[in-house]
Amino acid sequence: MLSETSTATVRATLPAVGAAVGDIADLFYRKLFDAHPDVMLGRIAHKHASLGVTPAQYEIVHTHLFAAIAEVLGDAVTPEVAAAWDEVYWLMAGALISIEQRLYAQQGVVAGDVWREWEVVTRIEETADVATLQLRPADGAPAPAFRPGQYVSVQVELPDGARQIRQYSLSRAPGSRLRSITVKRVRGGGSPDGEVSRHLHTEVEAGDHVRVSAPYGDLVLDSADAPLLLASAGIGCTPMLSMLEDLAATGHRAPVTVVHGDRSPATHAMRTDHALLTGKLPDAAAHFWYEDPEPGHPAERTGRVDLSGLAVAPGTHAYLCGPLPFMRAVRTQLLAKGVPATDIHYEVFGPDMWLAQD
Ligand SMILES: Cc1cc2nc3c(=O)[nH]c(=O)nc-3n(C[C@H](O)[C@H](O)[C@H](O)COP(=O)(O)OP(=O)(O)OC[C@H]3O[C@@H](n4cnc5c(N)ncnc54)[C@H](O)[C@@H]3O)c2cc1C
Repeated sequence: MLSETSTATVRATLPAVGAAVGDIADLFYRKLFDAHPDVMLGRIAHKHASLGVTPAQYEIVHTHLFAAIAEVLGDAVTPEVAAAWDEVYWLMAGALISIEQRLYAQQGVVAGDVWREWEVVTRIEETADVATLQLRPADGAPAPAFRPGQYVSVQVELPDGARQIRQYSLSRAPGSRLRSITVKRVRGGGSPDGEVSRHLHTEVEAGDHVRVSAPYGDLVLDSADAPLLLASAGIGCTPMLSMLEDLAATGHRAPVTVVHGDRSPATHAMRTDHALLTGKLPDAAAHFWYEDPEPGHPAERTGRVDLSGLAVAPGTHAYLCGPLPFMRAVRTQLLAKGVPATDIHYEVFGPDMWLAQD
């Protein structure tokens, strides 16, 4: 997510940076790995942990990746070149493995053993295309703890026997006995429908079982006393709902600005909860934008999310989730309002979602 101004500057300086990229990369990786080995790889490690990736799988990937490189590049891969790239691979793999071991330990599971059978207790139709599944561990054990904003991986078996895995943010606060995921059915238009979201919508009912991973994800509130801005669009509201409910439950007192953009009030999943939970906070306001407003909601803002009329308190930490153009626009506006880039956190719902017309 790059602002327009920065995109132009990056383009203009690309030739100069490109000429020195080898030296810069070498120095950069040495400095970064020395200082913060986990910064760059943390997000990937969370995803890997939610998929149950094990250290042994790095060996398997290494074998096939390097065989493919040798086959494609042929003689260009001298022993020296192979050794250098081997070193890069294991440097990255080693860092990932160690973060993943820590993530597994935090959940009290053996590396890779993240999957459990969960029972769908209730299914709630939020909008025509969005449903919430409330889940509990099928073995009766307590649901694992998580931090608001985190997600789980969900594994389903499709009618053709293929197993598919997708991530879904937990959409309620950790306090409850149940865990909720809220899934938007991805309609393909001219292309096929989204496989897992369609399966969850058309095949999964109360009483059914699904395989769900332990919770992971690094979009979590780590500045509890700071003013917050929770900005979402479309189904990107799910981690924000979890955060909001938790803030209300834990008595957050600093200002909270809730921003959400959707096509219309009817497509805004959990719209009532979004407003009600904001109302439970002592110093919070919700601002909803709809591209197609409905007559019953005259007070709402129309068009796309626009922060220009909103005051952003000094020290605000912003949390963003939604389609890429939305996040890019909100991030640019926040930077212009003086929010440092380091205080703008975001979750990406995967490249597929960026391509979907929302
Ligand atoms: C951290 C994280 C949290 C997330 N949280 C949520 C959440 O809370 N709620 C939620 O609803 N989603 C969430 N997602 C998105 C979710 O994981 C899935 O990406 C989403 O449900 C779509 O998956 P799918 O299997 O239905 O679609 P896919 O089968 O992956 O298809 C995606 C798109 O590709 C197109 N496509 C598929 N096959 C073809 C083809 N052969 N040719 C052309 N086009 C094709 C489809 O039309 C569709 O538009 C999250 C993602 C991440 C990474």
